[in-house]
Amino acid sequence: MTATIIDGKAFAARVREQVGEHVSRLKADHGITPGLAVVLVGADPASEVYVRSKGKMTVEVGMKSLEHRLEADTEEADLLALIAQLNADPAIHGILVQLPLPKHLNEDLVINAIDPAKDVDGFHISNVGLLGTGQKSMVPCTPLGCLMMLREHHGSLSGMDAVIIGRSNIVGKPMAQLLLNDSCTVTIAHSRTKDLAEVVRRADIVVAAVGRPEMVPGDWIKPGATIIDVGINRLDAPEKGEGKTRLVGDVDFASCVDVAGAITPVPGGVGPMTIACLLANTVTACCRANGLAEPEGLTA
Ligand code: NAD
Repeated sequence: MTATIIDGKAFAARVREQVGEHVSRLKADHGITPGLAVVLVGADPASEVYVRSKGKMTVEVGMKSLEHRLEADTEEADLLALIAQLNADPAIHGILVQLPLPKHLNEDLVINAIDPAKDVDGFHISNVGLLGTGQKSMVPCTPLGCLMMLREHHGSLSGMDAVIIGRSNIVGKPMAQLLLNDSCTVTIAHSRTKDLAEVVRRADIVVAAVGRPEMVPGDWIKPGATIIDVGINRLDAPEKGEGKTRLVGDVDFASCVDVAGAITPVPGGVGPMTIACLLANTVTACCRANGLAEPEGLTA
């Protein structure tokens, strides 16, 4: 069997198109332009790349993008003051503080200072609680993107066995909650899980979010299972030339593709969906703030 490749890049382009259409309607019918503010503290090179591409895509779908770049030694009180200002600004519907923050800043404190209604990353403790109790919330972008791809591929997920490898607050735990809300039987595996191979073998859906290159081999996969590979790992690739690198996931694509029913590639799978879902969350937040109908299919 050769798995269907779930094309996250194409799917993300469709999501962005849908967001763009909704933004056009908000402008034409209500004179509202959704606004996303991204706050970057310090100059972490990976974060710089993310922030640039988030800004570019925000503008491409017709929304307003504001970037706030603060020095690495910014004091917590100053960052909190900026967040308070953005919370109070009616032209801003989404606020994202790029993580990780420099060590002297308390990430939990900073994230929980964001107005939950503008928390487009879905990391605020109120949104975590709302998601955990099956209520309307802002949903973390990466797991939301994974859920959209799974729903698109399977239709209903009801009754499926899902195994998530990784228990982070950003991916593993919210992913589990979303799949539980869609009536999957959910197992969260992690670094202390005994006999991970056996646990993964019973899964109809495997979501790998670990950060260890190609750790899931094909012989852990139940034939026909769907694999969502969240991992992004950069490896040296001397075969491409000196100093070159390549990206791989947490799943050994070469051996899994022959066993799985469907699989997301790395790159081109989950990654592009994450930014598309950030844009989707911003337009959703804007609609909620204005008491307008939310776009269909862009939330959990
Ligand atoms: P994290 O480091 O916060 O969590 C990793 C999890 O993996 C932990 O819960 C840990 O228990 C588990 N783990 C570690 N070693 C393990 C092992 N040997 N067996 C089983 N479980 C093990 O990571 P994260 O933030 O959840 O990210 C995970 C991966 O996903 C990373 O590669 C990250 O770059 C990637 N990621 C991608 C996107 C995207 O947009 N595609 C977004 C977020 C994270």
